[in-house]
Amino acid sequence: MSDKTSIEWTDATWNPIVGCSVVSPGCTNCYAMRQAARIELMDLGRRAKRGDNLAVGGTSYAGLTQPSKSGPVWTGKVALASDETLTQPLRWKRGRRIFVNSMGDLFHESVPDEWIDRVFAAMALAPQHTFQVLTKRTKRMRSYLTESRSMMSWAIQAQALKRAQFSVFSVRDVGVWRRSGLPNVHLGVSAEDQPRADERIPELLATPGAVRFVSGEPLLGEINFESVLNPASGNHLDVLHRSTLHGPNYGERPRLDWIIVGGESGKGARPMHPDWARSIRDQCAAAGVPFFFKQWGEWAPGENVERGGTLDVAYNLYADDDWSFGRLSERESEQTHIDNEPTVYRVGKARACRRLDGVEHNAFPEPRR
Ligand code: SF4
Repeated sequence: MSDKTSIEWTDATWNPIVGCSVVSPGCTNCYAMRQAARIELMDLGRRAKRGDNLAVGGTSYAGLTQPSKSGPVWTGKVALASDETLTQPLRWKRGRRIFVNSMGDLFHESVPDEWIDRVFAAMALAPQHTFQVLTKRTKRMRSYLTESRSMMSWAIQAQALKRAQFSVFSVRDVGVWRRSGLPNVHLGVSAEDQPRADERIPELLATPGAVRFVSGEPLLGEINFESVLNPASGNHLDVLHRSTLHGPNYGERPRLDWIIVGGESGKGARPMHPDWARSIRDQCAAAGVPFFFKQWGEWAPGENVERGGTLDVAYNLYADDDWSFGRLSERESEQTHIDNEPTVYRVGKARACRRLDGVEHNAFPEPRR
């Protein structure tokens, strides 16, 4: 939980659970997995210094990851937060955008339904905030949020969290949540490439939600959203999309309200082809969907690169090729036209900046109240 975060599309992070397991290629270099191992190590160091018995106690990050040849990996164990953490957003009076679970996935298979009930109850009790729930477990999110029992449980849990004598929410509130989700909760799915978009976006569209968004980060391939954003186009996604209309949103046309795109950062980061990002930007512009370009990540095109020094380069001529990697010596990098695309250069997240074709894209969806 942090009231400060470097994640560009949110103001704060809140982790009612920590821990996860990898589910798809986008997870390979999971930042949270490395961070969880680091926090556990730091805690061990602190406790060793104090002379504590290391076999007992420790932070909630203990045992969430284990070492492997390629670095720490999740064990699949998740830890539920303390009541203090669970109720933290209720004590933040100023409204914020809050990213829920930057260190795990709320709909992970090891998280009990009863705990998710408590998390949604806390979000219902803090309408001053906008909560951004992002998951790769879209099937579970859909089944949880289409079950009537869930919303009744939020009301019961909200009463318990407030230690109130009478119910905090009315039957009418529960009815609204059932039809269109909690108004201050934005539901998002991660989709790193077309197969993941095809699998997860229809599930998202079939889930009752006030605002629905997609995070294409790390973007690992092209994504054609046209069929999702423009259901008249009639391809396979559209068929799935139509079938979902017989779910809880029957009578409405569910749509995406926001798309985020970002390249991968950190050790072992994979490049993002500039044309993948441009294509999504243009699809959003055509459909009137807010677009947020979060970052290039580790690799950036020539226009964002300062000349000089040796440069690691990656080539991917036709956007769907495999990447080839190389290195330019200092002399070569002086002589090369580094604006030539589709080559991208490893410059690190901080230097790569956030401009796409010279423009920062910082659009957000309209909140629903
Ligand atoms: S789902 Fe998210 S938190 Fe879990 S392993 Fe994948 S990237 Fe990491």
